[in-house]
Amino acid sequence: MSDAANPNTPAGENTPEKPLDFIRQIVADSIAAGTHNGRVQTRFPPEPNGYLHIGHAKSICLNFGLAKEFGGKCNLRFDDTNPTTEDTEYVESIQDDIRWLGFQWDGLYYASDYFEQLYRWAEELIEKGLAYVDSQSAEEMSRGRGTPSTAGVDSPYRSRKVDENLDLFRRMRKGEFTDGTHVLRAKMDMASPHFMMRDPVLYRIRHAHHHRTKDAWCIYPMYDYAHGQSDSIEQVTHSICTLEFETHRPLYDWFIDKLGIFPSHQYEFARLNLTYTVMSKRKLLELVQAKMVSGWDDPRMPTLRGLRRRGYTPEALRNFCGTIGVTRYNGLTDMVVFENALRDHLNKIAQRRMAVLRPVKVLIENYPEGQTEELDAVNNPEDPSAGSRKVPFGRELYIEREDFEETPPKGFFRLSPGKEVRLRWAYFIKCTGVEKDAAGNVTLIRATYDPATRGGDAPDGRKVKATIHWVSAEKAMDAEVRLYDHLCRIEDLSQVPEGEDWKSYLNPKSLETISNAKLEPSLSAAQTGTPVQFERLGYFTPDSVDHKPGKPVFNRSVTLKDTWAKVQKKG
Ligand code: ATP
Ligand code: MG
Repeated sequence: MSDAANPNTPAGENTPEKPLDFIRQIVADSIAAGTHNGRVQTRFPPEPNGYLHIGHAKSICLNFGLAKEFGGKCNLRFDDTNPTTEDTEYVESIQDDIRWLGFQWDGLYYASDYFEQLYRWAEELIEKGLAYVDSQSAEEMSRGRGTPSTAGVDSPYRSRKVDENLDLFRRMRKGEFTDGTHVLRAKMDMASPHFMMRDPVLYRIRHAHHHRTKDAWCIYPMYDYAHGQSDSIEQVTHSICTLEFETHRPLYDWFIDKLGIFPSHQYEFARLNLTYTVMSKRKLLELVQAKMVSGWDDPRMPTLRGLRRRGYTPEALRNFCGTIGVTRYNGLTDMVVFENALRDHLNKIAQRRMAVLRPVKVLIENYPEGQTEELDAVNNPEDPSAGSRKVPFGRELYIEREDFEETPPKGFFRLSPGKEVRLRWAYFIKCTGVEKDAAGNVTLIRATYDPATRGGDAPDGRKVKATIHWVSAEKAMDAEVRLYDHLCRIEDLSQVPEGEDWKSYLNPKSLETISNAKLEPSLSAAQTGTPVQFERLGYFTPDSVDHKPGKPVFNRSVTLKDTWAKVQKKG
């Protein structure tokens, strides 16, 4: 496909060398066959009842990606047919999140824009004898549906005459009946082996305020009745949804066929599931409402809001979606794959800084009192254009508590009495002793430095086995640092036994707050949305909500991998 080489295609999506996934193959084939005159029109159809999550990003990358790659168009359509769960708050956040992810829709539509047209089509189906008003209770209706192995039975109202149906349906619209008294059903086949085809409900009465149509309607169309026709109105050529809608496809086709309208077609792909997290708006809402997270944008949430606040970049998300590809196999993607997409991107763009999360003080006894100096530190070894910065060095420093062991176990190469290590970008230091409090905790490490090793190498060629990071005690900036772990403590939440509360499988240690981290002073210029690497500790970003001048708060976006392997190689 030459269109796939479109230079605007975000990195990570299909490139000409990569074989097309099955959806892209379908689209390529339909263009080649001249179906819909070779036109490609897709849509992303969120229901505005929550914030978008990483699963939605997969669908966004696919729908918008197809339009971009094949020279087509992609609409954003709000599937707003459930007045009681939907809100303009969500409508706005969804638009904002899609733009942040790097996509722009062609048309912006709402299923509620089509309520009048959908209603007229319903009357048309009634007139054709293909729909009827059923006045059974919900329970009776569900009993009448039968089971997958036994046929359903016809409703006693199924034989109502067209005129009676029309009259009742019009009065339903006028608001003459209370919720639940009548529904409009399609007259399909109560014995169909496709459960979905056993006279599905098209309209139900719901006296509820809608966030857009206000109080204009008290009957609302069901998903299956609204979705395909909305696609058809927008002349969507490829209506792409997740596999659980495969069983709905006969309905989708039935309405389009019976109404004789534009033949949109539905294709299904596997939804994204990630280990150690939850991926359903309903469950995410539960967490927000139970205040088990700070909100939809809590950095532990798999929402685009949360990931963005955590420090995920749109590039990393798009690359991830490109990596996992599009299949019809419902699997579970390892969270590591997702985290690696972020590491790969941040490794290229994030500047390196030094920060100490659990500080212990080091006193360099032979460093002149009152003296400080500025040492050169490379900003990003992966990107020479990122240049370098100065880091202040002095007689008193902080190092990581865990980089010191008074009695080092075998294989511990960092600081311990009598041992020498390199301070990153600075000098070799050797530990000469420690001071402790009454409880035996080390309160001060005494050391000497070798002035000849300035910059990090010994002129006599002697080696050290470890390089550790540090921060000047005098110039350090105090900060709060938030470390995150998986939201769930089990890999696959779908394995939670029936009847158990899935929330009891949340990870109680998903957030650790460090209130007195010590940061190198250049981090006072850190900006929200610009992640940095704290050497040896991971990638961090200022928190978009709580970070303030004079009160810095950093989120760890993701840890580094192979931390120790790297450190030991440098020695
Ligand atoms: P949830 O199950 O999380 O509530 P949803 O499917 O109800 O999500 P919608 O707003 O209806 O959410 O979804 C909009 C589009 O995003 C749909 O086309 C849906 O198939 C797709 N989508 C939702 N979740 C995923 C996922 N995990 N992976 C891929 N696509 C998804
Ligand atoms: Mg949905």
